[in-house]
Amino acid sequence: MEHIDLSPWRVAHNTRFSLGDIDSHPPKLLPTDEDALAHQIKKLSDKLNKLQATLHASRSRSVLLILQGMDTSGKDGTIRHVFSHVSPLGVRAVAFGAPTDKELVHDFLWRVHDKVPARGELVIFNRSHYEDVLVTRVRGLIDKETCTQRYRHIEHFESLLHDGGTVVLKCFLHISKHEQKKRLQARLDDPHKQWKLQPSDFTDRKLWPQFMEAYEQALAATSTAHAPWYVVPADSKPHRDLFIAALLVQTLENLDLKMPKPSFSLSDVRLD
Ligand code: AMP
Ligand code: MG
Repeated sequence: MEHIDLSPWRVAHNTRFSLGDIDSHPPKLLPTDEDALAHQIKKLSDKLNKLQATLHASRSRSVLLILQGMDTSGKDGTIRHVFSHVSPLGVRAVAFGAPTDKELVHDFLWRVHDKVPARGELVIFNRSHYEDVLVTRVRGLIDKETCTQRYRHIEHFESLLHDGGTVVLKCFLHISKHEQKKRLQARLDDPHKQWKLQPSDFTDRKLWPQFMEAYEQALAATSTAHAPWYVVPADSKPHRDLFIAALLVQTLENLDLKMPKPSFSLSDVRLD
């Protein structure tokens, strides 16, 4: 499969941008034909499976994939689909909700540091420490100065992870407000999906422009060389999955990991 150039969706550090200028529909370079799309996703899934097995066996590096996005943007679905072929050994998904009383009496990174990947692990964050500069900022729980301070703390924290051998990838699942309406309506209509709904889904939707602005600022401030942000066009679920699978495969391939050699001489073994 040819290499997909995802760099146009990478956020530039400290450069103002508008999410309104980025299309949430699938990019033209991805296939539109359903069979071709399914074929590419299958190929990438197989590759991801092999690469993750090597990551796990070599225990030298780790990967942290951070997923952020508005409600219904597809964070759960991405985890379900992109990682459906990898072994649960060495892969973990962690969801971050509103902090508990115990978490609130610590600094905002305390609960997060505990969950980062060990060497050999691939961990997916469904929401993350970014909520502490997004929802908290939009709801006025922190002021601008604290928010700017937190961008700096996040940059240092992710730099610490990077220096320890963790690859940090961050994806903002970009859906349009119109697409969210369709997905919320689908949840309202389907008894199997209603459990996912929360009152905040509807109050946060009313604050859509404020959330977009908070995302624009947070992404630009924290998209660094060692922990880049990607704005993933996410109105189409299979294209979103293809984008993220390609990003992971390219990142893992670049690590050039090798299966470790056995720790003893195989010629000494006698099988009876
Ligand atoms: P969900 O992921 O949609 O099931 O819901 C999780 C909820 O927890 C969302 O409304 C988030 O905005 C909220 N949440 C997650 N982290 C934080 C945080 N650090 N501070 C406040 N709210 C948070
Ligand atoms: Mg939700």
